[in-house]
Amino acid sequence: TGTLYVVATPIGNLEDISARALRVLREVSLIAAEDTRHSRKLLAHFAIDTPLMACHEHNERATSAHLLERLQQGQDLALISDAGTPLISDPGYPLVQQARAAGIAVVPIPGACALIAALSVSGLPADGFIFDGFLPSKTTARRARLEQLARQSQTLIFYEAPHRLLACLTDMTEVFGDDRPAVLARELTKTFETLISAPLARLQRQVTENTQQQRGECVLLVGGFKEDSADKALGSEALHLLDLLLQELS
Ligand code: SAM
Repeated sequence: TGTLYVVATPIGNLEDISARALRVLREVSLIAAEDTRHSRKLLAHFAIDTPLMACHEHNERATSAHLLERLQQGQDLALISDAGTPLISDPGYPLVQQARAAGIAVVPIPGACALIAALSVSGLPADGFIFDGFLPSKTTARRARLEQLARQSQTLIFYEAPHRLLACLTDMTEVFGDDRPAVLARELTKTFETLISAPLARLQRQVTENTQQQRGECVLLVGGFKEDSADKALGSEALHLLDLLLQELS
């Protein structure tokens, strides 16, 4: 059987493609791509003329069956998405899952990933994090999801579409509170790359005032929940009372 290579491509800056990615994309017999027109440009830039096949949200189950057949016939294939690492808020999961279930070798060719790039420079704890992808687009559902995450102590990471950024920051301020540390990482690896760190309420204001910040691609990071001293005081008070009650009972 052949090998399925899951290949990361740049998230903006073309220099971020790896030497190994270029070799693999050149050598495989077919590249499954989210958007063939988009990827054709990337490949042309590197003078790669490997055939492309569309594998996107709407056809990926049907395409996966076909790709699986080719892998079983011994062909090596690559999977790429429009930007960054495939499967990370991108198509590819059915193919990888089916290939692995069929005993086919699935090999990662690692590279750019917006959430990792953003986290690595955010100044927020990076030893543990929750990546939640895209939040629901409607406010009620979005707030409900944020409520579920409100007491998580790890750094929270979200992808967001530019036209929803402000509404999202408003909901986050509402649910997480004004003072939660947050970071907006925009246009990473591109000309207008910017990083803003501020407590949520201030970040929300800054983005409201500067419409420039409402454009381009962005990653939103929020510091994890920290029990504040009032909570802790209450906790120790409760423990003390419990102690007294237990003494009373024994
Ligand atoms: N698979 C990609 C990855 O590995 O990062 C993510 C694909 S997802 C459909 C696209 C989202 O990733 C964008 O809406 C944005 O939130 C984030 N993103 C992608 N490129 C980015 C960049 N250069 N700067 C900031 N965020 C980016």
